[in-house]
Amino acid sequence: MSKLEERLAPVLETAARYAAAVDTDGEFPEAAVQALRDSGLLGLTLPTEVGGLGAGPVEFAEVTQQLAAACGSTAMIYLMHVSAAMPIASAPPNIPGVVEDLASGAALGTLAFSERGSRSHFWAPVSKAQHEAGKIRVRADKSWVTSASWADTYMISTGSADGDGPTDTDLYVIGRDADGVKVAAPWQGMGLRGNASSPMTVDTLVDESARIGDAGSGFATMMSVVLPWFNLGNASVTLGLAKAALDASVTHVTAARLEHLDTCLADLPTIRQRIGRAGIMLAAQQEYVRATARKIAEPDDSTMMYVLGARASANEAALTITDEAMRVCGGAAFSKHLPVERAFRDARAGHVMAPTADVLYDFYAKALCGMDLF
Ligand SMILES: Cc1cc2nc3c(=O)[nH]c(=O)nc-3n(C[C@H](O)[C@H](O)[C@H](O)COP(=O)(O)OP(=O)(O)OC[C@H]3O[C@@H](n4cnc5c(N)ncnc54)[C@H](O)[C@@H]3O)c2cc1C
Repeated sequence: MSKLEERLAPVLETAARYAAAVDTDGEFPEAAVQALRDSGLLGLTLPTEVGGLGAGPVEFAEVTQQLAAACGSTAMIYLMHVSAAMPIASAPPNIPGVVEDLASGAALGTLAFSERGSRSHFWAPVSKAQHEAGKIRVRADKSWVTSASWADTYMISTGSADGDGPTDTDLYVIGRDADGVKVAAPWQGMGLRGNASSPMTVDTLVDESARIGDAGSGFATMMSVVLPWFNLGNASVTLGLAKAALDASVTHVTAARLEHLDTCLADLPTIRQRIGRAGIMLAAQQEYVRATARKIAEPDDSTMMYVLGARASANEAALTITDEAMRVCGGAAFSKHLPVERAFRDARAGHVMAPTADVLYDFYAKALCGMDLF
């Protein structure tokens, strides 16, 4: 067992043990997140100088896929932590220990980007920071924040105080205990039900030094750091769920007997055809995501196309694969005897997350046609 597998094994065991209850009860997967904190994996991709494990996108994609196969909610929480930790580490704000805590597992991070006013267009927050008494007032209505009341550290986007255009953006690091940071409503979702992706309101004064990078640099950080890590992780969550559904359906169709014919479901050519199609689709997407991880690790001119394309493609494939899994398992899947329908519901979240898969298609096409993305 590699060192990484040794760290991951107890997390997977805990995540899998509680996954069904987390889904049924809509409860935050506290035990699995504690196991993640204890494992050191919250610092997987952070540099060793700040206490991280110094691993890269390839390892992140692998860990996230395995986590998602065990518990989709836990994997999504992990993805949002890494998506916050990487930009924070790229230009650390002047908050003592903030990156070290994200690396050690003392702090769970998340992103608060989506706003009620601009919906999935996270690159254009309608909120706008204001100068006040030598500080910055951040006031925003955030529509979804994964791990909302469970995160310790939020990375919050807002329009830049001195900016003009919709993408003149700042990113601030704000702690859970800051004044005026409130979870506005409970979370109820059809999938990823343990995710605690509640709406939040923010009305707080922060030091300028809590900003990531220069004023107005938020959009550039979103595109160059957040988007690659988020899209890679989102694609990985999606594929982990697809793999879980396919594995469970293979187990079922090879075991479920038609006693009067002395055959099993897998003896039916139509069932095998669906399994084969889903398996090939999954294998192709896994390769695409691996290639994307390598492109992010060693960027070149084609990296952004991979970042846009692999996620949209993985999201779409996961919808098909989990749907095929439901169909080949018939009533056994519909009646919740198998973990297939949970993966089916969880996998539907991937393509609605910003930028949504439909927006990614549009961006990809704009890039192909030589047009500006924004
Ligand atoms: C489980 C879950 C967890 C989440 N966690 C977080 C989080 O931690 N932080 C965070 O900031 N956000 C989070 N989100 C929010 C997410 O990123 C999106 O902002 C949100 O799902 C968008 O929903 P909406 O109803 O506002 O979509 P809308 O923007 O209303 O989109 C509706 C439809 O319009 C389409 N559409 C919109 N614009 C275009 C366009 N330009 N071209 C083509 N089609 C378009 C979309 O593709 C979609 O099909 C989370 C969402 C989910 C489901």
